[in-house]
Amino acid sequence: MNIARHFRFVWLLLGLLLPLSTLADVSFVDITQVEQSPLSLTTHVDMLEDVTGEATLESVRSDEMAGRFQHEQLPSTAFALGFTRSAYWFRLGLDNPGNESTTRLVVVNNPRISLVDAYVPDGQGGYRRWLTGADRPQSTKAYDNRNFVFPVTLSAHSQQVIYLRVQSSIGLLVPLQLWSVEAFHVHERDDYMARSGYVGIAVAMILFNLMLFIALRDRIYLLYVTFVLSAVCCLTIKNGMAPDWTLFGQSLNSNVMYYSSGAVSLSMLMMFMRRMLQTEKLLPWGDRLLQGMTLFYLLSPCIYVLALPQVAHFAILSFLFAAVAMVGLALACALKRQRSAYFFLAAFGLLILGGASTSLRAMGILPTNVFTEDGLQLGSSLEMLLLAFALADRINVMRQEKLQTQAQLLLAQEQLVETLQRSERELEQRVAQRTEELQVLNQRLETLSLTDALTGIANRRQFDELLQQQWHQAQRSSAPLALVVLDVDWFKPYNDLYGHPAGDACLRQIAQALQATLSRSTDLVARYGGEEFVLLAPLTDLAGARLLAEKLADAVAALDLPHQGSPLARVTLSIGVAALTVTPGMQPQVLVQRADAALYRAKQQGRNRVECDSGA
Ligand code: GH3
Ligand code: MG
Ligand code: MG
Repeated sequence: MNIARHFRFVWLLLGLLLPLSTLADVSFVDITQVEQSPLSLTTHVDMLEDVTGEATLESVRSDEMAGRFQHEQLPSTAFALGFTRSAYWFRLGLDNPGNESTTRLVVVNNPRISLVDAYVPDGQGGYRRWLTGADRPQSTKAYDNRNFVFPVTLSAHSQQVIYLRVQSSIGLLVPLQLWSVEAFHVHERDDYMARSGYVGIAVAMILFNLMLFIALRDRIYLLYVTFVLSAVCCLTIKNGMAPDWTLFGQSLNSNVMYYSSGAVSLSMLMMFMRRMLQTEKLLPWGDRLLQGMTLFYLLSPCIYVLALPQVAHFAILSFLFAAVAMVGLALACALKRQRSAYFFLAAFGLLILGGASTSLRAMGILPTNVFTEDGLQLGSSLEMLLLAFALADRINVMRQEKLQTQAQLLLAQEQLVETLQRSERELEQRVAQRTEELQVLNQRLETLSLTDALTGIANRRQFDELLQQQWHQAQRSSAPLALVVLDVDWFKPYNDLYGHPAGDACLRQIAQALQATLSRSTDLVARYGGEEFVLLAPLTDLAGARLLAEKLADAVAALDLPHQGSPLARVTLSIGVAALTVTPGMQPQVLVQRADAALYRAKQQGRNRVECDSGA
C-alpha cells in the first residue's frame, strides 16, 4: 500500500476539478481575528507539491510555479500527506487591518517533520529564512518550543505572504495553526504541564518497580521498568521534548531514534507480556511468535539507521501487526481464563484507544480536545498504571495461591493423621479381637488337654496335677486326703459280647453317673485309663471315703446295665479306697499304690465290692 501515491492522486483530482482555484489570488487571513483561540490554517493556505524537492523560494514565487499552488477545500486540522519523498510548499497570506503593529505565531504542530523551512518577509523586500526540523539541531528553531513556531510581525495596515516548506523521511502530517502570542503562552504552559505530568507518572512507576525488582528479584519488574523507560523515551522524542542525540560526537537522527525506541519498547512489552501471561505454559505457539517478534523488533533499529525513509511505512505496518498480534494473543490467554490477560487487554486497549483518538484527530474525524490531543500520552500513562496494577494483583494472586497450597497441605496432613489414627485404632481392635480369640482357643485347648475325649470328664493328666496340688495342700494343713480307684468288672467280655462301640457307650454312662454323685467342688472324678476311674477327695478320711465309694457303686448299680458276660449279669465295679495324712518325705504314689492294692483285693474277693486300705 502506498499512501503517498493515494494522496498524490487526490491532489491531482482536486487540480482537475477545481482549475479556477489554481489561478485564484492569494487569500489573506485577518490576523486581528485571531486572539484567544488558535486558527487552523489548513483551509487558508495554498499548497504546492515539489516532487523533486529541488524547488527554491525564488522558483516557487516565480509566475510559472505560483499559479500551481492549490487551495485545500477539505475541513481538516492537518494535511495528512502520507509517506512521501516530495517536499510540500505552503503559501499563507496574512493581513493586519488594525492600527497597530501586531505579532502572531505560525505553528507547525508536529515535531516529527524532518525538515521545516519558514520564509517570512523581512520588511525590506527580502525574506528571512529559518531552516529547522526534526533532522536539524534544536538550536535552529526560531522559537524554543517542542513544535516549530515562527513569529510573524505585521505593521499597521499591512499584508504579508509567508512560505513554509516541509519534507520528511517518515509519514508527513502537517497541522498548521495561527496563534496570538498571549494565547500561545497559556497553551504552552498547560501543554508542558500535561506532558511533565506524564513523565512524572512514568518516573514514579520506574522507581517503584525498580525497588520491587530489588526487593523481590522477580525479572518481570525489570522488564516492566525497561518497557516504561523505552516507551517514555519514544513518546518524549515523538513530542519533540527530547534533547539532540549524539553518539561519539556524531549527531543521531531523531526520527531514527523515535522509530528505534518505539521498536525497543515494543520488544520490551512483548517480553513483559510473555512473563506476565505465562505464554510459555499457556500458549506455546504464541510464545514462539512473541519470541520471534521480540528478536525482530530488537534488531530493527539497525535497519532504521541504514534506511529509515525507505522502510518507514513498513515499520508502521510492522508496529500495527505487533499490536494486532499482541491483542490476539492476550485475547487467547483471556479465553483460557488467565487473570493477568484481562488486565493486559484493558491496558493495551487504552493505549490503542489513545493512539486511535490521536490519529483520528489528525485526520479531522475527531475534534481537538484534551483527550484527543494528548490521547496517546493519556492512553500510555493509563496503560502503565494498569500494568503496574496488574503486577500488584499478581502478588495478590500468588499470595492467595500460596495460602491455598498451605491450606491444602494442612488438610492433607490432617487427613493423613486421621487415617493413621483410624488404622491404629483398627489395628488395636483387631489385636484385641485376636487376643480374645486366642484366649478362648487356649482355654479350649487347656480344657481339651485336661478332659477325657470319650467320656467328657477329667482325664489322667488333670488328676495327676490335682493330686500334686492337693498333696501339698494336705501336707500343709495335715488334713486327710482320700483316693478311690474304680475298675469295671468283666469288661473285656463286655466288649467281646456287645462290641467296642457299645463298650464306649457303657463307659460314658458310668462316667456320667460317677460325676453326678459328686457334691463337693473340691472332689474330682477322672478316667484313669481304659475302664478304670478315680475319685480324689481332699479333707476326707477313710471312713468318709468308703461312704463316697459306696455311693459311687450305688450310682452305677442304679444304671442297671445288663452284662451277659458277667456272672452277676449286670455291669458292676470293684473299688479300692485309701486315705492318709501326708507326712513330710511321703510321695503321692503311695496313696495310689494303696488304693490299687485295695482294688486288687476287691477283685480277688469276687468283685462288685468296696475294699479299704488296711493301713499296713
Ligand atoms: P476284671 O474284672 O478282672 O477287671 O476283667 P476285665 O475284663 O475287666 O479286665 P481286663 O483288664 O482283662 O480287661 C479290660 C478290658 O477293658 C480290655 C479292653 O478291651 C477294655 N477296654 C479298655 N479301654 C476301653 C475303652 O476305651 N473302650 C472299650 N470299649 N473297651 C475298653
Ligand atoms: Mg482294668
Ligand atoms: Mg476290669
